[in-house]
Amino acid sequence: MNSPHAFRYRVYAQEIIFSPGALAQLGSAVERAGWRRLLLCTTGSAVRAGHAALAQRLLADRWQATFDHVAAHVPEAQVAEVLALAEAHNIDAVIGLGGGSPLGLAKAVAHALSSQRAAAGQPAVPIVAIPTTYAGSEMTATFGVTRQNAAGEPLKMTVTDALAVAQLVIYDPELTLDLPPALTAATGINALAHCIEALYSITRHPLSSAAALAGLRAIAGALPHCYAEPHDLQARSELLTGAHLAGASLASVSMGLHHGLCHVLGGTAGVPHGIANSIILPHAMRFNADALVPAPPAETWGQLAAGALGLTPPAPVPQVTAEAAAVAAAQAATAHVEALISRLNLPQKLRLAGVRAADLPRLAQLAFASRTVQNNPKPIPSAEALEALLRAAW
Ligand code: NAD
Repeated sequence: MNSPHAFRYRVYAQEIIFSPGALAQLGSAVERAGWRRLLLCTTGSAVRAGHAALAQRLLADRWQATFDHVAAHVPEAQVAEVLALAEAHNIDAVIGLGGGSPLGLAKAVAHALSSQRAAAGQPAVPIVAIPTTYAGSEMTATFGVTRQNAAGEPLKMTVTDALAVAQLVIYDPELTLDLPPALTAATGINALAHCIEALYSITRHPLSSAAALAGLRAIAGALPHCYAEPHDLQARSELLTGAHLAGASLASVSMGLHHGLCHVLGGTAGVPHGIANSIILPHAMRFNADALVPAPPAETWGQLAAGALGLTPPAPVPQVTAEAAAVAAAQAATAHVEALISRLNLPQKLRLAGVRAADLPRLAQLAFASRTVQNNPKPIPSAEALEALLRAAW
């Protein structure tokens, strides 16, 4: 794979339904697939909004049980609890309805059941994902579970496996109309971060880059509207389309520095995922500004991102090398993203998200050991380099 034109990636079979009001199709889609005994994983917001009750009505006698208090970052104890519930009800498919946390729990539980049943020669347990934020988990074969490491620290571990892919994804922008502005902003920036990291991913390919650019355009255009006008269904539909594209780009490439740091800040320091994304993204982009991928004379990630964000490239100047122009474009894209994060009133410092300065060296060490961080396009020389980045973000 030495040629700059070589690529390799995996795609998974998924049925995607996207439409305002699409939740109404849940019953018929499940019937078509032949799933008979379903477990619903969700959170209080979907219960209060009536989405969980509607899902249960649509499933009729195929509904068996609901677990309605999924915690952030998918604690291992909840996976065990819901696994026992699924076994008690002889579940044959698991639904995640809500943000990335209930989707992650549904994936973790279905994955554990499928692994057990595979050993007994039984069919896998399918996953239905119905996202109500912009986090993007519904498109990927990955889930994270937070468990204690050998030192007794909570650490989010990710698993990527075909058995964790949602076979059915229902995107209903109407379910996002009640997503408060702060969560709209934070999870929208999470989706934007998928696009940025997909553009400079070491395993990027033509389809992931195309999805990332289209996603970036849609998110940058629609996110400020959704923040200001939460009930604008058209803007919500555009933003959810962007999140779908972001998730699709994320699904087939490895992420880098940004996502690796966010997982440690979430699992170990308890920072909500979208907030960690908002604080870290400009720092990760700045760190990678001189990672010239793809290599000039092709347009680099920074130039592609700047173009998708609607920034006009400066007129070429003979004294400015292609490399310097690429770095300048990445810096301009970073400044633009930073200004957007600021306009959305998101926290921009780790200390505002409850992270203690004394914990930064350990967080940097944990992140340095993360495979995702090590997949960054620009090599990370040491834990100290990560600590410097975290200090700048603190
Ligand atoms: P989340 O699922 O924890 O939800 C955050 C809050 O939003 C919760 O309180 C929830 O009740 C509320 N909420 C969700 N939808 C709502 C709605 N429509 N209206 C009102 N409130 C609503 O947060 P998240 O940011 O969506 O997901 C983060 C989690 O997903 C993290 O664990 C992250 O690691 C994971 N994730 C995984 C992937 C992947 O590919 N596997 C991708 C992105 C994120």
